[in-house]
Amino acid sequence: MDLARQAESAGGISIRPKVHVVELGRRIELQSMDTLFHDITIGLYEQQPRPGAIEYFVHSYSGISGTDERLARVVTVMLELGGMARVGNDPRRLCFTCGEVHKLACRRLFVAACKVKPGIVSKPMPLEVSDKTTGRNIKVIREDNATYRVTADGLDEGRAQRIGAIGRGLSRLAQMELIGEDAARVRFSCGKPHDELVGLLLPRALNLRAAMREQEEAMSRGLLVAPSAQKS
Ligand SMILES: [Zn+2]
Repeated sequence: MDLARQAESAGGISIRPKVHVVELGRRIELQSMDTLFHDITIGLYEQQPRPGAIEYFVHSYSGISGTDERLARVVTVMLELGGMARVGNDPRRLCFTCGEVHKLACRRLFVAACKVKPGIVSKPMPLEVSDKTTGRNIKVIREDNATYRVTADGLDEGRAQRIGAIGRGLSRLAQMELIGEDAARVRFSCGKPHDELVGLLLPRALNLRAAMREQEEAMSRGLLVAPSAQKS
């Protein structure tokens, strides 16, 4: 730590050097208290640097030293867990390589990334999960570039209904198109594969009601906490 920063340190927590003002864009998700780093508040922002291009930016107003590293860590986990890509050399800016928004999925990915403990190398989640409701393995198979089919071992009528419910869950959580009346197939509108997002959202699709409740709570948090009221 240099002298200037030492002089600024207080209460055992050193102060983050001043950063130049950045254009934040619209905040779409908020981690109001990051329990893995001094309870700081971290926001996910959506930016449109030019027409048709969507980028995401992870930011905090925290003045605590180490915040930049913490934000870079959250972004790294989002890349590892969600298959997103960096934008240029900026450690806090990322996008989907297909160029689409995928906003809901990105918000869920951000919240999940904030919960991954330091030092853990995160890997994309498998396209297979055990379903407590039916006691069966649910598997999602990618049929072409962007279409995914939900399957389970054995297919009686009850199970087909369950598969449809999971398909509808994925469609709601990741803003995917539902294909067919049985709702067993879902598709990304960008026409590109996103295995990582499907793996991340599959366990949540099994319990859509809980996932939607979580989303509503997160939305109300995001709306209620104005930037001026956040921890600095
Ligand atoms: Zn896409």
